[in-house]
Amino acid sequence: MRIESDLKLGFKDVLFRPKRSTLKSRSQVDLNRTFRFMHSGREWSGIPVIAANMDTVGTFEMARALAPHGMLTAVHKHYSEQDWAAFLEGCDDTIYDRIMVSTGTSDTDFAKLTSLLDKHPQLYFICIDVANGYSEHFVAFVTKVREAFPDKVIIAGNVVTGEMVEELLLGGADIVKVGIGPGSVCTTRVKTGVGYPQLSAIIECADAAHGLSGQIIGDGGCTCAGDVSKGFGGGADFMMLGGMLAGHDESGGTLVKEDGQSFKLFYGMSSETAMGKHAGGVAKYRASEGKTVKVPYRGPVDITVQDILGGVRSTCTYVGAAQLKELTKRTTFIRVQEQENRIFS
Ligand code: 5GP
Repeated sequence: MRIESDLKLGFKDVLFRPKRSTLKSRSQVDLNRTFRFMHSGREWSGIPVIAANMDTVGTFEMARALAPHGMLTAVHKHYSEQDWAAFLEGCDDTIYDRIMVSTGTSDTDFAKLTSLLDKHPQLYFICIDVANGYSEHFVAFVTKVREAFPDKVIIAGNVVTGEMVEELLLGGADIVKVGIGPGSVCTTRVKTGVGYPQLSAIIECADAAHGLSGQIIGDGGCTCAGDVSKGFGGGADFMMLGGMLAGHDESGGTLVKEDGQSFKLFYGMSSETAMGKHAGGVAKYRASEGKTVKVPYRGPVDITVQDILGGVRSTCTYVGAAQLKELTKRTTFIRVQEQENRIFS
């Protein structure tokens, strides 16, 4: 047994140290980024914030709402081919820069992915998503998808350590998704004792990925716009959000009313709710690793998006970054033992 004793940090453990800046207003900040992806060679521009591929967040309605902002949606894997055809028919070609197709790693998943991409060859982001990206089988699957689709942008995850980021990038991924256990409806850390504080995971994984000209997505754990900024400050190229985008008109999940107040159901993709819905129940060999919660209904997602992007722009002005691209090199984090004043909350 070994113990690593250097402290790993989450978003709640740091704040940005403000810096002198020539920027007058947050409106001068550009959040667009352009990336060229290492295997596919494709170039992409947009605002690198992604709606998570959960069936309560990564919906077609969400994609339609986020696309005009330049943001991405990782569309969940439970839509049928007919659903995809109907959705794509109603969109113009710019949508292909704003959506990712999600897949698991079974033979059925691969067959479904292949058929979908054959029918809609303009789809070019593939998000291969498993809870534990450390298995040999997973790396082999990523390589198989790379061989089948040399010109698509492949995202693979989730992992939290540099050596596994490198292995996935070398195995064919363009982008690696980072996060085990930080999610708002995730119970992995309690059920298994496994995890890694998300800010340190981002910092270490970004360093590993950038050394190979790959990118990372910081996935999970953001509770407010400041956390999204901290992820970017720590080196994340993209940030993925679940809970922050839940509860809106565009989010999936049943609307429920209680004592005159409206809520939307939000649940983890390995919760009993999700497994009951998509897999006919929780298999005997596994425990659910996700919760089901009710989040207050929040209306259209546009208002939340403006709040998040406004927050990130403001972070950039505090540290003097005219473009999101400059945020990491302008970031000095200070370790703290307090965040906000909660006297009135
Ligand atoms: P959030 O932004 O809500 O904090 O985190 C969203 C992320 O949580 C998702 O993108 C996904 O990586 C993770 N996640 C979603 N559902 C589950 C689940 O049921 N169990 C676990 N362990 N993680 C989940």
